[in-house]
Amino acid sequence: MYIGGTVISSVEFHGNMSLVIFMSKCPLACRYCHNVELLEDNTEWSLEKVISEIDSSADFLDAVVISGGEPLVQTDAVIEILKHVRKIGLKTKLDTSGIYPDKIRELLDLKLLDYVSLDVKTTFSKYRKITGANVGFNVKKSMKLINDDSNVHLELRTTYVPTLHTKKDMLNLVDEIKGDIYTIQQFRNKNVLDPALEKVEVPNPHDLRKLAEELKPYFEGQVKVKSAEFGEEII
Ligand code: SF4
Repeated sequence: MYIGGTVISSVEFHGNMSLVIFMSKCPLACRYCHNVELLEDNTEWSLEKVISEIDSSADFLDAVVISGGEPLVQTDAVIEILKHVRKIGLKTKLDTSGIYPDKIRELLDLKLLDYVSLDVKTTFSKYRKITGANVGFNVKKSMKLINDDSNVHLELRTTYVPTLHTKKDMLNLVDEIKGDIYTIQQFRNKNVLDPALEKVEVPNPHDLRKLAEELKPYFEGQVKVKSAEFGEEII
């Protein structure tokens, strides 16, 4: 399996100490992607090496987070890892773009997921503008599948880029989504896939909070803002 690295984190799965595993590869080309080195990374890990990495820190972990890249490019590897995580009694979280609903369904049927962070990059009909591919309706299908499983907590996340998202886009987007939490993430302009975005100003946390306050009445769950300056803030 292709893995770019791991890190121990107290913020990736709120309230839990987690081992985050960054699975390499992704078929999308999001203009603001800052995991560029992971998209084509060819570092191979054996399942034994991953299991040993998890086991060596298991005593002080609550959870394992599978992130990327797009982890479900390597679904068989993800299933093997998560089966081990379940066996040793830790919680599981998956970060995904949601473009593979059938693979999400497979993981749900196997009861391998406690928490999913699903990217909603823009309104479902405008996905090509940001990702280069018309995959928004796959994401919508994934969102429904996860919402239909009452055992799985669903966080939806949008990286807000001032030149790619109008206020109207954000209002339309929040109308289309359903989940437990909606997080608006601050765009960072360093090391991004599309060099044109390096000139775009990073939105300041004050503006992000204001945007979140305007969207909050239209979303049933909790609304959060995530910025480099203040971390996660509940609005
Ligand atoms: S931001 Fe887009 S291109 Fe980058 S890893 Fe995530 S889904 Fe793939």
